[in-house]
Amino acid sequence: MCVVKADAYGHGLAECARLLREDGTGWFGVTCVEEAVALRGICPEARILVMSGVWRGEAEAAIEHRLTPAVWEPFHLEWLDKAARRQGLGASEFPVHLEIDTGMSRQGVGLADLKALLERFEAGSPLRVEAVMTHFHSAGDRKATTGQIREFGAAVDAICKRGLPPDFLSAGSSGSTLQQDTEVVTELAERIGARRMLRAGIALYGYAPGGGVSDGREKTALEPVLAWKTRVISLREIPVGTTVGYDATFRAQRTTRLALLPVGYADGLNRLLSGDPRKPGSVLVRGQRAPIAGRVSMDQTTVDVTDIAGVEIGDEVALIGEQGAERITADDMAALTSTISYEVLCDIGARVPRRMVE
Ligand SMILES: *Cc1c(COP(=O)(O)O)cnc(C)c1O
Repeated sequence: MCVVKADAYGHGLAECARLLREDGTGWFGVTCVEEAVALRGICPEARILVMSGVWRGEAEAAIEHRLTPAVWEPFHLEWLDKAARRQGLGASEFPVHLEIDTGMSRQGVGLADLKALLERFEAGSPLRVEAVMTHFHSAGDRKATTGQIREFGAAVDAICKRGLPPDFLSAGSSGSTLQQDTEVVTELAERIGARRMLRAGIALYGYAPGGGVSDGREKTALEPVLAWKTRVISLREIPVGTTVGYDATFRAQRTTRLALLPVGYADGLNRLLSGDPRKPGSVLVRGQRAPIAGRVSMDQTTVDVTDIAGVEIGDEVALIGEQGAERITADDMAALTSTISYEVLCDIGARVPRRMVE
């Protein structure tokens, strides 16, 4: 399953879904019904998992658009059951993915409450357990997933015993895809005549969950697919002692050439990249690193190009991407802002146009 929630991790849902569909993807994962309905408009035939279930009033749309909700609350089953019957679906005609909580404690039913929940799939119900799913807190780390898989196995056994054998066991995200720490789940699936489903997100976009694209420690074969570019829209030279930006955090120590970029924190360029003037984030101009000078504003950022020869208005600037021998990744940006590549990518704002290039 290709996870394309949050606008395909900030990459653009329409562009990514179309490409993945052309590549043969049959299953997509999104977070909510709203995202799923948008995706349905792009991919009329694909299967779409709604990973955060349904909320009040959404069951009708879930059925109408042939979405596949993750379910774990009794009220999910109640709402979907009612809506499915209202829309004339017969027994077992509406597949759902039953989520088991094995250690994330976010969503999913725990083993203790599973039996009571299963009773709601009585004969004649339009709902059918197509998949049993769970989510690993440390996908890719065999030691950490072992306990979760044991719980998951117990839940799967209980579900099969109740006469509800699933078609899929859905467990594991990018970490498990890259590290193959969860073959046990595949074996479990084979044992009960089901297929294994992995839900890959960040890896599709060229990043490993724990970083490692660019730090050389945990090299994978992944290449980031996104470059985030802007251009120089103004240039100025300021004399020694001149301040730059809000709070005057930068004061020129020499005659300084500044380039203005039309991008700021409203576009997802984190203000923390200018949090410490001694260790600023940087961008690439003419194949060289230009440090951010002064605060990142809402819509604008100034960079110091004093040491880069020949910078002109209109020059392309890479915020994330490659120029010559230099490269900045979402992992690099994440390291400077105490977060993970996921957040950097998802934060790229809605007003930044996404363009698909070869
Ligand atoms: C986001 C998400 C995934 C994908 O995770 P990655 O680490 O991006 O591969 C898989 N399953 C669920 C339930 C998720 O919420």
